[in-house]
Amino acid sequence: MNSTEHSSEIMDKDLHVTFVEMMYHLLPNPYESQEINHLTLAYFVISSLDILNSLPSVDEKEAIANWVLSFQIRPGNAADSDDGQFYGFHGSRNSQFPPDENGVFRHNNSHLASTYCALSILKIVGYDLSSLDSELISASMKNLQQPDGSFMPIHTGGETDLRFVYCAAAICFMLDNWSGMDKEKVKDYILHCQCYDGGFGLVPGAESHGGATYCAIASLRLMGFIEDNALSSCNLSSLIDLPLLLDWILQRQGTDGGFQGRPNKSSDTCYAFWIGAVLRILGGCNFVDDKALRRFLLSCQYKYGGFSKFPGEFPDLYHSYYGFAAFSLLEESGLKSLCSELGITDIAAIGV
Ligand SMILES: [Zn+2]
Repeated sequence: MNSTEHSSEIMDKDLHVTFVEMMYHLLPNPYESQEINHLTLAYFVISSLDILNSLPSVDEKEAIANWVLSFQIRPGNAADSDDGQFYGFHGSRNSQFPPDENGVFRHNNSHLASTYCALSILKIVGYDLSSLDSELISASMKNLQQPDGSFMPIHTGGETDLRFVYCAAAICFMLDNWSGMDKEKVKDYILHCQCYDGGFGLVPGAESHGGATYCAIASLRLMGFIEDNALSSCNLSSLIDLPLLLDWILQRQGTDGGFQGRPNKSSDTCYAFWIGAVLRILGGCNFVDDKALRRFLLSCQYKYGGFSKFPGEFPDLYHSYYGFAAFSLLEESGLKSLCSELGITDIAAIGV
């Protein structure tokens, strides 16, 4: 690909809106295999349009809310609500099956990540989450928490790591209902994930990673265990080793201006959000070379809209979303400000 297809001096918002609107109407073929994550793909599209200040009309918002609500699953009868299953949202029509003749869900694939995406979209389109049965979602979510404080994504099992801890914390925060988790246990699990070098790994003992570090810090912030701008308040008696964490984070900005997810990896658009959002939560944005980061991101901006993972590649929805989010953190004019710990705009987070 010609390098001129990527280099630009400005963040071309109008072009990005066109790119995302195309995805809104029809997802291109390569995304077919990700049908199972339909709600996640929808989250990237709708939240992108929100950051770009280009949400669809009120009528369309209502249609989006109804579409998302159609992925919600409830027990066949109220007595089944404590049957050990999780009653949240499915990720896709393909994984959604009706209850059997006795009203029992044999194939309840409610997933924490799909539920996080569903609630986020609902907030973005202005749906009042108090209309949901938050007690059902929260009470049944408790079935997913493990003795070590971590969460399984789905009641039939699966990996337990910080990604699902984050989804659980964000769900409780959005529902304003924390009955679905033992917060102290979650806190202990997260603290065990801090590595000797200051970053966080996805599970205790794992190598530090940008995405895991975001999940750890954003979860602690959502749960109220760390305050906003913890770095500037000089409250270094914090739960976590903040100076060591800051040291690890600041070493992630490369000579090309971009952020890498861990040592010896190339800079990648999405870490401009994962790492940038951690700095924003902790109040450490001043430590970043904004101009260099901006230059890196623009080298990943495609001439027909969207962002790629690395400079000179084709764009994808995931990296485009985190490119928009990173530009919002850089306070690009015309973009809505971001609630770093929830991953949606401040306006959607507040719910006005
Ligand atoms: Zn990436």
